[in-house]
Amino acid sequence: MSAQAGSGTSGLVRAAVIPAPGAALEVRRYPVPELETGAVLLRTVAAEVCGTDVHLWHGRLAGAPYPLIPGHVSVGTVVATGGDVTTLDGEVLRPGRLVTFLDVHGTCHNCWHCLVAKSSTRCPSRRVYGITYGADEGLLGGWSEAIYLKPGVQVVPLRGSVTPELWIAAGCGMPTALHAVDTAAIRLADRVVVLGAGPVGLCATALSLASGAAWVGMVEPASIRAEAATRMGADAVAPPWEAEAMVRGATGGRGADVVIEASGAPQAVGQALDLARDCGRVIVVGQYTDHGSVAWNPHTQLNRKHLEVRGVWGSDLSHIWRGMDLLDRLGGDYPWTGIVSRSYRLDEAQQALQDVEARRVVKAVIEPGVRKEGR
Ligand SMILES: [Zn+2]
Ligand SMILES: [Zn+2]
Repeated sequence: MSAQAGSGTSGLVRAAVIPAPGAALEVRRYPVPELETGAVLLRTVAAEVCGTDVHLWHGRLAGAPYPLIPGHVSVGTVVATGGDVTTLDGEVLRPGRLVTFLDVHGTCHNCWHCLVAKSSTRCPSRRVYGITYGADEGLLGGWSEAIYLKPGVQVVPLRGSVTPELWIAAGCGMPTALHAVDTAAIRLADRVVVLGAGPVGLCATALSLASGAAWVGMVEPASIRAEAATRMGADAVAPPWEAEAMVRGATGGRGADVVIEASGAPQAVGQALDLARDCGRVIVVGQYTDHGSVAWNPHTQLNRKHLEVRGVWGSDLSHIWRGMDLLDRLGGDYPWTGIVSRSYRLDEAQQALQDVEARRVVKAVIEPGVRKEGR
């Protein structure tokens, strides 16, 4: 088994590691783990570089354990299983099967949040691959030649026309945007504004159009991302300082029915409130890390407008599961794979983080199996 998952004859698995907040990334070698009953070992095909990983590198996520193997959305091939492991469809996983998995593990389905509030994304027991599991606990991140899926991790085989390239291109933006668009409850012919053309905002653009929006506008200052929004089907794109004019012009001066804030900039939340029409709806999905506070006027920006504001945190298995069906259905309708600007080897992981941070790329992907010549 070791020779299948590891790097050739050594039997060791190479992984890119953030040793400590702000420290240079290292490629470290780990032994191939023994499989518990119910566990699955994957050979990683591709793993996403998400904006969250940049925040992890800078130590901006409270409680994240270091050293840490990042990568919370990944695609891999099943190498081995600890006994029969069955998917929700009743399929018994066999070696060679291409799968993804829900990065959230350990949701208890037995606490107040899970059972009373029915908001499992706030369950205090949940742990997240590549974010809240550290490297000392195992191969629990995707920037690694192999990923150890603990018993109970929800494995979702790629279905229909969904290729690894397509799944990783939509990446964690897809389930997050699906959660946001569900929460937005877009009606046919709504006029929607999305703030931020990162992976979440681009997916939210496509899903808003697929939900029947009559018009989707994008607010994005970076040209590489603005161009990606246009390719994804946004009807208009403007930088923040021209957003008001764009939205007023497209809505008879009234403002958007639905505004989805996916930029991560705190000041964008205030703008989102301003861009919504009276009695409109604002979804805040972009503020995954704490970038500070902003001032806003509760009378003019919220109460008098009779706005509805909803926050969206994380995603659950339903978003992965339905995201798979959506990509199977919509894969050819939107340029998903265009979201990925380039892929990187494990030893280029730090460059990938820097490129994402500097917005030189829309999305970066790590391909752990790709190695430099002669190494
Ligand atoms: Zn992510
Ligand atoms: Zn719980």
